[in-house]
Amino acid sequence: MGSRAGVVYLVGAGPGDPGLMTARSLDLIASADVVYYDRLIPPGALAGAREEAELIYVGKQPGVPSLPQEEIGERLIEGAQAGRSVVRLKGGDPFVFGRGGEEGEALREAGVEFEVVPGVTAGVAATAYAGIPVTHRDDASAVAFVTGHEDPTKTETALDWEALAAFPGTLVFYMGVRRLAENAAALIAAGRDPEQPAAAVEKGTMAAQRTVSATLGTIAEAVEREAVGAPALIVVGPVAARRERLAWLERRPLHGRVVVVTRARAQASGFAATLRELGAGVVELPAIRIESRIDSAEVREAAAAIAEYSLVCLTSPNGVRLLFEALGAAGSDARALAGATVAAIGPGTARALAEHGIVADVVPERFVAEALVESLAAVEVEGRQVLIARAAEARDVLPKALRERGAEVDVVPLYETVPEQPGADAVEAAQGADYVTFTSSSTVTNLTEALGDRFPGSARIVSIGPVTSEAVRAAGLVVDVEAERHDVEGLLAALLADARVQPQQ
Ligand code: SAH
Repeated sequence: MGSRAGVVYLVGAGPGDPGLMTARSLDLIASADVVYYDRLIPPGALAGAREEAELIYVGKQPGVPSLPQEEIGERLIEGAQAGRSVVRLKGGDPFVFGRGGEEGEALREAGVEFEVVPGVTAGVAATAYAGIPVTHRDDASAVAFVTGHEDPTKTETALDWEALAAFPGTLVFYMGVRRLAENAAALIAAGRDPEQPAAAVEKGTMAAQRTVSATLGTIAEAVEREAVGAPALIVVGPVAARRERLAWLERRPLHGRVVVVTRARAQASGFAATLRELGAGVVELPAIRIESRIDSAEVREAAAAIAEYSLVCLTSPNGVRLLFEALGAAGSDARALAGATVAAIGPGTARALAEHGIVADVVPERFVAEALVESLAAVEVEGRQVLIARAAEARDVLPKALRERGAEVDVVPLYETVPEQPGADAVEAAQGADYVTFTSSSTVTNLTEALGDRFPGSARIVSIGPVTSEAVRAAGLVVDVEAERHDVEGLLAALLADARVQPQQ
């Protein structure tokens, strides 16, 4: 549906997990002219915004005076009056401790139309992700969302501790860490049982989620001891103990681990998504970028003459994708390969071929050029025209071996991998990582050069195979884990096996 000009949208972005953003919020972000956003919005929340959209941060920043609430209100009004569609994006739900009510009233007063898009509020989301049901047939028939940080300038202190202590259900405190000791004491003094279960959920729904369990009487001390930081919620009530049976996020095999992915962005997303599903915090630190060369004369000639090759070797899924793009540009398609033997260097490449309707004739078990050479031993190549379509900077093992056996080999570079300068934020996020994964020697060389002494020294290095491992050692680093199967699935299996036996840092 999209956003309309002259309207302000007060939009909740959910508690942190990008998957908990609503369809409506994504739709509005994708169509807005301007987005005013807070600190507590999920990573990547703005990725879908239009290229021309203005994205303006209006949250608090340590040491920087934040934009006063009235000024934010004025900007929203001005934006709408200038005929723009304005999204005001807030963490969680805009009407739950989000000052959305104040902004809505200011808009109404100025005669500006608005819409409110609820978000998944932390009080139900962080708790659910911690395995704490805020209501429960046996334990809690009601739930109260309470601020633990009452505005000190308010004349009468709004929190009625007697009433809260007597509340027949779960208490969920937002902004409750700083004054936790005072608040817990006030609740106990007002008659709430100090033995009642309590929990603090830090960074709920995010990869770094952490939960500290205690009782009302001991929660303040536990939170201090465990150095629980913002954002965090405090839950008080018998439901907090249900975690023992219901915790699920923390049980994922990579929960609490930070894994750096160094593949080119175009290839990284599937791998990164799988890691996240397994509970890891993922830092994408692409060290290389893939640059197509299918416009080169070499590639165009090869694509036009593809039917003349009797053996076609492909060495990566990228190569497959680009070869078919080149064929398409030449007005050709998969049928041009009908007469050829097609060899793929490994299962990933074979899968990419299968997506184009080609079942590879030769696929070695191991994902290295030497293995492909071995597998091709059974194929007659003497005097045959062979096309090797691959990266510009690959090794010469394969063409050399085939030429020695009398083949006429054309090596055609479909793409080049060029160094990518990692962003400062990603480099920062990678510090203290548990694992750095390498899927090719070029990523090793480029990343170690780009990072220098900012390479996360704490991390265990996971390599996809011997060639990559060699590059790791050449860069002066130690390979902690080498995959047995030299593809991404193999790398993941090796990482999981290592995480099972490595204690959490
Ligand atoms: N409008 C937001 C709340 C903003 S107030 C919502 O509906 O969720 C900010 C407080 O929300 C934080 O101090 C913390 O108590 C809580 N909070 C927000 N995100 C959180 C998260 N991911 N995990 C735990 N608590 C969170």
